Amino acid sequence: MPIDLKFPDNYRVIGKRNNDNGKNFYFVWGPGKEAEAASEPKVMADYEKRGERLVPLGVHGTSVAVDWDSCIADGGCIDVCPVQVYQWYRTENDIPAEQMINGTSAGTGSCVRDERKDFTDKSEPVREHDCIWCMACVTVCPTQAIKVDQANLEVHKKAAEAYKDG
Ligand code: SF4
Repeated sequence: MPIDLKFPDNYRVIGKRNNDNGKNFYFVWGPGKEAEAASEPKVMADYEKRGERLVPLGVHGTSVAVDWDSCIADGGCIDVCPVQVYQWYRTENDIPAEQMINGTSAGTGSCVRDERKDFTDKSEPVREHDCIWCMACVTVCPTQAIKVDQANLEVHKKAAEAYKDG
């Protein structure tokens, strides 16, 4: 199941991933779902090797939104992005995905397609704010896990205001 084309309708903020420059951040949206990652043998084999459970992870990012339940760590998006919006999240901090959604990122993870830790890794839109709307990542993703929509900058802004007000 690709990313819901109506995203972010029917989703709510479940996490805020800060950039350690103290300025930028992106939101994580739930609920998650069972999707392509759960039926991809390479992904499931690597979860088993780690002794980690696959759980619904939701969508990382708002205007550059990556459905982590659909992401199978192909890395095509990482490869084609001209401005390095993405990194492999585990190459910066190798912890289960559900534990990183409210953390802080230095953005020091790998932006090289074949440097994923393994197939439980995910493409993290850590520099969402740098997107130039070229749509290359959307086109290349084999599971259609990515929705890029400049109009959702406003959604991000409103979510940020609501988050601040608690
Ligand atoms: S739309 Fe283009 S610039 Fe934006 S994240 Fe995708 S590949 Fe990168």
